[in-house]
This record gives sequence, structure tokens and C-alpha cells, in this order.
Amino acid sequence: MNKPRLITIANQKGGVGKTTTAVNLAAALSESGNKVLVIDLDPQGNASTAVNVEHSSGTPSSYELLLGDIDADQAMQASPTLENLFCIPATIDLAAVEIEMVSLVRREFRLYDALHKGFLDKHGFDYVFIDCPPSLGLLTINAMTCAEEVIIPIQCEYYALEGVGQLLGNITMIRQHLNEDLHISGVLLTMYDARTKLAAQVADEVREQFGAVVLGNIIPRSIRVSEAPGFGKTVIEYDPSSPGGHAYVAAARELHERGDYVPHETTGVIGVSPEIYAELEA
Ligand code: ATP
Ligand code: MG
Repeated sequence: MNKPRLITIANQKGGVGKTTTAVNLAAALSESGNKVLVIDLDPQGNASTAVNVEHSSGTPSSYELLLGDIDADQAMQASPTLENLFCIPATIDLAAVEIEMVSLVRREFRLYDALHKGFLDKHGFDYVFIDCPPSLGLLTINAMTCAEEVIIPIQCEYYALEGVGQLLGNITMIRQHLNEDLHISGVLLTMYDARTKLAAQVADEVREQFGAVVLGNIIPRSIRVSEAPGFGKTVIEYDPSSPGGHAYVAAARELHERGDYVPHETTGVIGVSPEIYAELEA
């Protein structure tokens, strides 16, 4: 049985492309034959909308799962359109869960515990993507104790790196105290506008700070990407030949082919390729 790559998509800055990245990488990887699960941990339920699964209030979801009222099989739905894609949706009920979880045992490990009671072994997913809300609260912590990999989408705009230092600090803290395997295995530049100098400057700055962990493929700002959720579709289904569709397919392939980037003591929580790792050791 293969071990899934468990990937959290996080950035506490809002609107940077977390959800778009989670669902489109998931859809692209599922279309190329991988079995993929998307876990929606954002009360906004945007990932659930994009993969077109039921998520009205009261639908069995990540909310009941975190509280321990249902198991993961009861919360999971199959994508109506992509046969290898599954989703544990989020409903608006999730908005209050951080407060409700405060008094629960192992409150930082509710998602981990729910997935590791045989669910992951039974289904044999290749990839699990967890879509986080734009905050560093208990929901994001639950995603980060569960996953080994973090992918940070960064929007090529003003203030792109604002808050990223705090995010790195949090990942470091979780690594020290709750999940020693957690690390950044990818940074994805999103909403790149090739007409502006600013976008290129941000991209350079991000590459300077993060190095090789930044994916070579950049996601352009593309109208088809933003239209797709309105049709209950990922851009992979809605318009795969659009620039945004192409870019997400290419980014998914890159992520798949290069595998996990693991951290080295000199790079802290930031992952590096096996070749660079060997160089650092030498
Ligand atoms: P939140 O923090 O609220 O969860 P987010 O980080 O998940 O937001 P998204 O919802 O993925 O961000 O994207 C924010 C908005 O930008 C959405 O309306 C989305 O459709 C749009 N968007 C994302 N990526 C692109 C792109 N490459 N081109 C054009 N629009 C995009
Ligand atoms: Mg989102």
C-alpha cells in the first residue's frame, strides 16, 4: 500500500490562491491517474464548491469529523465528475469549531487521529490536500499536525511576503513541538501578471528567499481560473487549455515528478532537492 503525500496548503494571508491551488493540483493529479482526497478545513467551503460536492449546513463534513461525531468515511464524498477525486467538505458549521474544540482532548490532533484510524490505509490515496482558512488558528494547526508537506501559495502582488515570516515561525514551532516531519515542500507563485514589473520583482524576491523549493511553474492571472468555481468546476475541467489550466497541470506534474523536498539543518523548515541536500552534506 502506497503512503500518501499529505500536503497542507497554507498562508494566513487571504485571497492568495490557496483554495484554487488545492483543488486544481488535486484535479490535475487525479486526471493523471492518482487517487486524491481534498479536505476542506475552511468554513467558507470554497474548495467544496469548486469540486462540486454537497456542503450545505448539516451535511456530514470536516466539522463533525473534528468533533469526533462521525468518521472520515461518513464525511467523504466522491467528485461528481472526476473518478479519482474525493472530498471531505466544509460547511458553515465549521465557523464555530475552533471554540468548540478548545476543551477537547488532543485538540491539535483531531484531524490526524480521524485519518489515521485506518481510513488512509483503507483507501490508498496518492495525495491528500488540505485547504486551510486564512488564519493560523486551530484549524490550520490541525492541518499541520496531519501533513508532512506544506505548500505556500504566494500572490505576485504588493505585500506578497507580508506575514510569511510569521507563517515560517509557526511551521517551525509546530515542527519542534507537535510534528517533527512538517516542512515546506513547495512555494507556488500565483496570479502572475506578466505585464507588470512588480510581478517579476515579487517572483525574484520569493526565489531569493526560498530558493529551489519554489516551483518552476508559475500560475498566471487568468480569467478562466476565476470563472471555473462558478460552474462547480476546477479549471482543469472547465478550460484545461487556458493559460491557467495549462499552468496548474504543469505545476501538478512538476510536484509529482520532483517528489517531496526535504529540509536540511542549514535550510531550517524549507525543503531542498536530494541533489542540493547531498551538496549541503558534502
Ligand atoms: P481565502 O484566504 O479567502 O481562503 P484563498 O487564498 O483560498 O482565499 P482563492 O480563493 O483561491 O484564495 O483565490 C482568491 C480569488 O482569486 C478567487 O476569486 C479566485 O477565483 C481568484 N484567483 C485565484 N487564482 C487566480 C488566477 N490564477 N487567476 C485569476 N484569478 C484567480
Ligand atoms: Mg480559500
